[in-house]
Amino acid sequence: MRTGKIIDIHCKCGYLLFRYFKAGKGRLIKVLISRLSEDNVGLSKVETHSRPLCPECQKEIGIIMMIHGEPALKLNQGTIKSVRI
Ligand SMILES: [Zn+2]
Repeated sequence: MRTGKIIDIHCKCGYLLFRYFKAGKGRLIKVLISRLSEDNVGLSKVETHSRPLCPECQKEIGIIMMIHGEPALKLNQGTIKSVRI
């Protein structure tokens, strides 16, 4: 059985960036765009290697990369409030 849960990912400014289905435990390093359940940044439209910004405070929230052929956002740990489950 697949385990995991939906978590909220906030910017340090408090803005809710995404809700994400995270499988397994541990620190969140990257998010697969296809697994976002709520996307307040518009990541589904951005290109690989672009660096999306928080819509609220305009800080870089990470960089888009291809991981196993799927677009993913590698989080900028300095901007994202750290999440552990
Ligand atoms: Zn922000």
